[in-house]
Amino acid sequence: MPIIDFHLHLFSRVYFETVAALSPQPGSVAERLADVQKRLGIEIPPADLAAHVQRWLRSFDEHGVEHAAAFASVPEEIPVLSEARVLSGGRLTPFAMVNPRAPDCAQRVGKLIREQGFGGVLLFPALHHYRVSDAECAGLFSELDRHSAVAFVHCGELIVKLRDVLGIARTADPKFADPLDIVSVAKANPRATFVIPHFGAGRFHETLEAGRSCENIVVDSSSSNSWIARADGGLDLQTVFARALEVFGSKRVLFGTDSTTFPKGWQRARLDEQRAVLTALGASDGDQRAIFQGNSARLLKLGA
Ligand SMILES: [Zn+2]
Repeated sequence: MPIIDFHLHLFSRVYFETVAALSPQPGSVAERLADVQKRLGIEIPPADLAAHVQRWLRSFDEHGVEHAAAFASVPEEIPVLSEARVLSGGRLTPFAMVNPRAPDCAQRVGKLIREQGFGGVLLFPALHHYRVSDAECAGLFSELDRHSAVAFVHCGELIVKLRDVLGIARTADPKFADPLDIVSVAKANPRATFVIPHFGAGRFHETLEAGRSCENIVVDSSSSNSWIARADGGLDLQTVFARALEVFGSKRVLFGTDSTTFPKGWQRARLDEQRAVLTALGASDGDQRAIFQGNSARLLKLGA
């Protein structure tokens, strides 16, 4: 079965340079990145975007991945993702990381969707200190609704390893990371879809509650879901999937990996562990096809 990864960060050179420029550490951006490379054991991608995209596609081919939702992980990376989509021959659907309070956000996002094949946006309310239900965000969501587009709303824990290594202060405020804040916005914008990544990243109970309230709220299964080990009540990945399927059903759970960097590339282990869990739960072939491919194809309007 061909796989669609609904949650992947392209992490281009522009991303690394943008974040490194925020660091209070001494030295040039290039020196800071050389240090990051050593400390995290990752490769800083080349400035040649075509080569970087080709490397991702080779990694996809190796593992049977036909398509991915790929994020610009900082606003500065949006033009890079637009170019990456073209370079990928349409195998990447880009998403724009935006701050809805930035001037003209709604208009800019509308243009990205109409003219550059973007699937929607990636939001970090805890990082940018807003609630999605704030009146000033309403314009963005009606634009997404108009285009039946997708908003990934990061809730729960937010740890960005690169920012930590670069000594950038953690300013994320968990009070803005509540999945229940999405409910009123999702009800007001029924044609848009709201994705809560990583099953809520530690806000599982609220994620289930939000899912019960609105059909257009869905979850993605991406990342190692390391929050599960820190959760109360002896949760494990299998229990998380079982409860998510009870509430959301197989049409509203989407497979993702949260792949980010090389040399690791596309994170095959996420597929293997999630497939094993779903098989152990007795999920039918049809349900697994929906989770690993069909639901993403529907929301990304592939083949439409
Ligand atoms: Zn992610």
